[in-house]
Amino acid sequence: PPDVEELGRSSWTLLHSITATYPEAPTPNDQSNVKQFLGLFGKLYPCWVCAEDFQVFMERNKVRAESRDEFGMWMCEAHNDVNRKLGKKEFDCAKWEERWRTGWKD
Ligand code: FAD
Repeated sequence: PPDVEELGRSSWTLLHSITATYPEAPTPNDQSNVKQFLGLFGKLYPCWVCAEDFQVFMERNKVRAESRDEFGMWMCEAHNDVNRKLGKKEFDCAKWEERWRTGWKD
């Protein structure tokens, strides 16, 4: 089976990168695409317990993707849900864009 940690780091990189390149003003089609993608991602993610919990999260927290910032925040919250479950530090979501799009200013 895949290494759950390595798979996780690579997958979060992909997921946050998708939010970083998402349009600021998405069309209804853009919004529909990310919802379909995440729905299937939740079914196909090759760590079954992870996938199951992610699907439950998405049922309780519908994907918000009416703007890049909203989608980036939603993804950050989804990642924090996993961080909490694993006893990791929560990430400050005000900084998602700095981490994944514009780069740290230091
Ligand atoms: P990661 O959590 O992989 O984070 C990588 C980097 O992202 C961090 O270094 C930080 O810079 C940044 N970051 C951290 N938090 C946030 C945030 N909230 N928003 C934006 N950026 C952030 N593992 C399990 O053991 N059990 C599970 O049930 C499980 N479920 C998962 C579900 C999904 C959908 C995904 C993608 C992964 C899941 N994982 C799960 C893997 C887990 O989340 C971690 O990826 C893995 O434990 C490695 O953690 P890490 O400490 O290296 O950093």
